[in-house]
Amino acid sequence: MTDHITYPGKLSAPEGKLLDSLPVAVYTCDHIGYISSFNQAVVELWGSKPVIGKSRWSGCDSMFYPDGKALPLDDCPMARALESGKPITDMEIIMLRPDGSRISVVPHAVPFFDSRGKVAGAVNTLIDVTGSQERESKEAVLAAIITSSDDAIISKNLEGIINSWNEAAERMYGYTEQEAIGQHITLIIPQDRLDEETHIINSIKSGARVEHFETLRQTKTGELVPVSLTISPVKDARGKIIGASKIARDITRLKKAEEILKNYAEKLEILNGIGGVVSENLDVNKILQSVTDITTKLTGAAFGAFFYNVKNEKGESYMLYTLSGAPKEAFEKFGMPRNTDVFNPTFMGEGIVRVDDITKDPRYGHNPPHYGQPKGHLPVISYLAVPVLSKTGEVLGGLFYGHPEAGKFTAEHELLLSGVVVQTAIALDNARMYDEISHLNAKKDEFIGLASHELRTPLTSLKGYLQIFEKGLSENDKNKAYIKKAVQQVNKLSALIGDLLDVSKIETGTLPLTFTEFDICKLLHEVTELMQYSARGHRLHLQCHVPEIMVNADKQRIEQVVTNLVSNAIKYSPGANKVNISVSKKNGCAHVEVTDFGMGIAKDQQARIFSRFYRVEELAFHISGLGIGLYISKEIISRHHGNLDVVSEPGKGSTFWFDLPE
Ligand code: ADP
Repeated sequence: MTDHITYPGKLSAPEGKLLDSLPVAVYTCDHIGYISSFNQAVVELWGSKPVIGKSRWSGCDSMFYPDGKALPLDDCPMARALESGKPITDMEIIMLRPDGSRISVVPHAVPFFDSRGKVAGAVNTLIDVTGSQERESKEAVLAAIITSSDDAIISKNLEGIINSWNEAAERMYGYTEQEAIGQHITLIIPQDRLDEETHIINSIKSGARVEHFETLRQTKTGELVPVSLTISPVKDARGKIIGASKIARDITRLKKAEEILKNYAEKLEILNGIGGVVSENLDVNKILQSVTDITTKLTGAAFGAFFYNVKNEKGESYMLYTLSGAPKEAFEKFGMPRNTDVFNPTFMGEGIVRVDDITKDPRYGHNPPHYGQPKGHLPVISYLAVPVLSKTGEVLGGLFYGHPEAGKFTAEHELLLSGVVVQTAIALDNARMYDEISHLNAKKDEFIGLASHELRTPLTSLKGYLQIFEKGLSENDKNKAYIKKAVQQVNKLSALIGDLLDVSKIETGTLPLTFTEFDICKLLHEVTELMQYSARGHRLHLQCHVPEIMVNADKQRIEQVVTNLVSNAIKYSPGANKVNISVSKKNGCAHVEVTDFGMGIAKDQQARIFSRFYRVEELAFHISGLGIGLYISKEIISRHHGNLDVVSEPGKGSTFWFDLPE
């Protein structure tokens, strides 16, 4: 029987060579499944060489269905082809090779027959589909990504002709895939941006990517969409650039968010500006002008104005204070807003009035003589008015804004302005208070000046009479001591009045100085000697580090400073028994120090003690003083271009020092 059979197992040498040279994997089995011939390609596929006449059905004995289920060897395509006598070609199997790798194979097992039509064997061609399957699944994933992407993904050739268009592109630009493919990309480029395409194509041709390029594209209905484009070159298998793929992200929301943010930042900056102006300023004019200017800008009004709430006998409000966006004359010729239905709510402090078109408002146009806006008035259609109320609820005035177009002011403007007017009102209150205080202060200074001047004259006569009286008494008259004491008290009083007068002169800038050349060491000797008489509990110790320092200064005023510092040193060190005074040369100045070992001054008080009438509170009750000595001394030294200051430690003492340029 077998001599009739012809099958590849009995191939002649040239036939065997032919089989071997085939790039596809082929092998044959005899009618009972033993491998009878095979080529090199199948050995490579299986990863092992079968044994002719021994290996049965396949050179790989570990096979699986594509779903991973094991495929028994006797059920493999070759076995089934032999058994059924029919070709088995419609399945895919997975083979596990000796090295552990898996390959996907499509077998082609075809039986052949002997002359009596009985199955004599079969030939199996195995096609390796591992790579193609992977590629196919990759392509499928990619296609799914492209289809489901929220970003428009478009590809075009180097001529700019669109050759793919995903669903997001349809949604974004409004053209269907059929409408877009074959069209030029300028289909979606706005007219004024056509040159962008040349730039993009040039970059692509040179192999460069264009990344996150923010621009505008046009939809089918002509709408402009802000997009961020990333364009990459598309290459063929040989790496030649054949086109470009373009991913477009709709950044409308991003742009809107950016705009809102920018808007907020700008407004915040403006509001900050107002905060600065109103908190730093005490000048009503400046505050109102800034607030009017800034809020006019903030609301986008064509012009804005602040009107002061001054009432005349008819209860009408008037007085234009500041104006922004128009010259003052634009209003002056029309008179001030009167007690009309439109203006009244603002001047009565009844809240914000915002009207999209004031000319259509029922409150508008009822009052003679103009019945609406006077002829030539700046055109107002959009109208916004905000009352400015003081802390006490008094209406200080109103901010008014106008625009020649309707619907320009929004609820957001109202909100912003309500914050601004609160700040403005506080600033106006402060400015008003400051004005009142400055006025009272000036009055007080005037009074001090006048009073000390008036007190001085009778005091001088009193002192004169006392001296005459004293001269008339004999040396051992017991009244002489009383007169002396009375003269001493009068001297004290006139020194105090003199100080008050000095304060008033400093305030009015009329403190006179008479400059002469003198030796400050000598002056210090004299002052120390003189003061030692009255300083009974303290020893005044003077140290001159140089024999002489000539200065050009007002001798009397410098003496006044030294006297004041030394008497303070004695006064504020009741428990101590000495005061050191020293003079030296320092940086071209005469440097004088007065050191006591008394109560000292707390750090936070040290700068304040040089201000007018300031006294450290705890001391004010039991140590007498007016709090003006240091103020006058500092002024005298700075008028000499010198410096006076203190170094002190509470509980240990203080050193007051001054430098006087030579
Ligand atoms: P007065 O001594 O009349 O109060 P001054 O202007 O001379 O006014 O001084 C202002 C304040 O500075 C004093 O009230 C006192 O609190 C403080 N002061 C001045 N000199 C000294 C000092 N040597 N030691 C401690 N405190 C001093």
